[in-house]
Amino acid sequence: MRHVAILGSTGSIGTQTLEVIDRFPDRLGVAALAAGRNVELLIQQAKQFRPECVSIQREQDLPRVRDALSGTGIRVSTDPCEVARADADLVVAAFVGSAGLRPVIEALRGGTDVALANKEVLVMAGELVLAEARRYGAQIRPLDSEHVAIHQCLAGHAASSVRRVVLTASGGPFRGATLEELARATPEDALAHPNWEMGSKITIDSATLMNKGFEVMEARWLFDLEPERIDVLIHPESIVHSLVEFSDGSWLAQLGIPDMRVPIAYTLAMPERLPLPDLPPLDLAALGALHFETPDVARFPALGLARDVLAAGGAAPAVLNAANEVAVQAFLEGRIPFTRIAAVSETVLEGQAGRLAPDLEAVMDADREARAAAHRAIEEGRA
Ligand code: MG
Repeated sequence: MRHVAILGSTGSIGTQTLEVIDRFPDRLGVAALAAGRNVELLIQQAKQFRPECVSIQREQDLPRVRDALSGTGIRVSTDPCEVARADADLVVAAFVGSAGLRPVIEALRGGTDVALANKEVLVMAGELVLAEARRYGAQIRPLDSEHVAIHQCLAGHAASSVRRVVLTASGGPFRGATLEELARATPEDALAHPNWEMGSKITIDSATLMNKGFEVMEARWLFDLEPERIDVLIHPESIVHSLVEFSDGSWLAQLGIPDMRVPIAYTLAMPERLPLPDLPPLDLAALGALHFETPDVARFPALGLARDVLAAGGAAPAVLNAANEVAVQAFLEGRIPFTRIAAVSETVLEGQAGRLAPDLEAVMDADREARAAAHRAIEEGRA
């Protein structure tokens, strides 16, 4: 029996994780749940799965959750770190953005393995997070479809035999759009992802390709690869989830329908596989063809920005992550056009160049200051 704590239980990854757990009650259980603002769904999940504790983001929602769960023995707080410290075998980190950093560190310090969907944690502080994991003997498992694919392709192979890994990207809703069309794109256009059902922040990151840039950073830390050995290919069908090229010139790819429950089940049960017989089968003959193309960094500068900050190191990745989070929110609120999302990040990065990040406090400082700088850049229309 494997007990799972979920950070972000009411979001897209969180609800799908619970769906997988619910199918295998004799193998998987819920230790703790942390949610943001979806109070009623958290209450419903807590009643169904009976965790030892839950957390809700806002103080004002605490009485409602306490009241609904009174008499159940479930502890209720506003501290996701308490959920991360629960008696679990695995913490599924599925918060959005920088909110996940502290609870993930907390889980690792307790020696608990972490399945990471919240890629911003590694973007912000990859080196520090990996050092904490090593120090406390905890593992970080991938929970991002591309990285779960690479994990499977690498299994049983010596690191020295890997020439490079190739992350696939659907290209998002604007794959074929011109720069003029991109400048006019609305939040509704950007939220209409062709293949994957996801939360709004990651869907916008997919449309700008920032998500893929973040995934390059994620791969760099998860698999200890030099950035030069991580490539990106646009693959509009989202059937090949990623590939590895070996030193003898042979390639391995992992294929499947684009459904997050498959990589979630893999990561929860690793090294075993859970049967998911009711998911639609992959029908390659019906698809007929799979397509691949090189990403266009001129139209999607976010991918280039991500590579630049990875090379720059220090606090630059945390600065990019924070500026991007603010810019995406501004775009979703209709305050800046789509093409300014990357421009805001670029402006903020220029102002914070050379910043170091020797410890977690420095990362959090960089995060705070980059957010303030991004708000200023948006208000002043400088980017
Ligand atoms: Mg992904």
